[in-house]
Amino acid sequence: MVQSVLLLNNTYQPLRLINLSRALTLLFAGKAEVVETRPGRAIKSVNRALPRPSVIVLKRYVHVPQRHATWSRRGVLVRDHYICRYCGAKMTHRDATVDHVVPQWKCKKTGEPANTWTNTVASCRMCQSRKGGRSVHEAGMRFSDPNFEPKIPRATYLVLTSEILPEWKQYIQV
Ligand SMILES: [Zn+2]
Repeated sequence: MVQSVLLLNNTYQPLRLINLSRALTLLFAGKAEVVETRPGRAIKSVNRALPRPSVIVLKRYVHVPQRHATWSRRGVLVRDHYICRYCGAKMTHRDATVDHVVPQWKCKKTGEPANTWTNTVASCRMCQSRKGGRSVHEAGMRFSDPNFEPKIPRATYLVLTSEILPEWKQYIQV
């Protein structure tokens, strides 16, 4: 049985999963309100039965310091929307690769880390082989969108390790 309650910030952004007793503490302390209840389930207390909360929202905004996301190949592809940053081609999971703006061998020489958000971009195989072990500049290539700048994504996602309840789906991206 799922015991978790989805806690939302007062902006309705998901914060984390909390257990039922923590949720009830927040509700009874007047710090949160019920947004969604679990159908068919009630919490029985001495003299009444309350609908069981499934999603609750904080009454006051809580500032959550955002961490930077940990680098991953998949993360780079998602950040760049599976678009080759050199030719602008839309790629599939299969033909998408991650290219190092400053090639790995050069990074090794200088001691700079190669697998960083700002040194990696989504690239199609053709552009990657055209670029070879050269830097973007040396290869005479450029980003298809001149305004594109490899960015460091923030870790704003919620890690859900339990079953995702249907009433949570409108608050989280699954
Ligand atoms: Zn390309």
